[in-house]
Amino acid sequence: MPTPEHPPLSAWRTGFRGRCPRCGEGRLYVSFLKIADRCTVCGLDMSKEDAGDGAVPFIILIVGAIGVGLGAWVMFTFETGVLAPILVSVPVSIILTLVLLPKVKGLLVALQYLHRAGDTGLNTFDADD
Ligand SMILES: [Zn+2]
Repeated sequence: MPTPEHPPLSAWRTGFRGRCPRCGEGRLYVSFLKIADRCTVCGLDMSKEDAGDGAVPFIILIVGAIGVGLGAWVMFTFETGVLAPILVSVPVSIILTLVLLPKVKGLLVALQYLHRAGDTGLNTFDADD
C-alpha cells in the first residue's frame, strides 16, 4: 500500500516496465514471469502477490485481434492462399505474446498493489517492510 515515504506511482511506470510497484526501481521479476519474493531496493514483500493467469485473457484479445487482422490483411491484399497468412500471423502472434505477457502481468500486479487487492482479495502487501 502506498505510504508517505512511498507515494503512489503510476502502474504504467512501474508494473508495465517490470519494476516494483512501490518504489519503481527494484525488479518485479526474477525470471520470465516469476514474481520476486521481495523488492531488492525498498524491501516490499511481493511473495504472495501474483496476477496468475489474469493477463492471459487480455493477451488473447490483443494478440488475437492483431494476428487475425494481419493474416486477413495479407490474404486479401496480396491475394494469397491460406498458407501465407498463417506464416505471417503465427510468428507475429508468438513474438507479441512473449513481449506483452510480462508487461501486462506486471501492470496487473501494480494495479493490485495500488488498489490494495492481492490474490486473496485482501491487501497482502506488507506495508511495514
Ligand atoms: Zn521496491
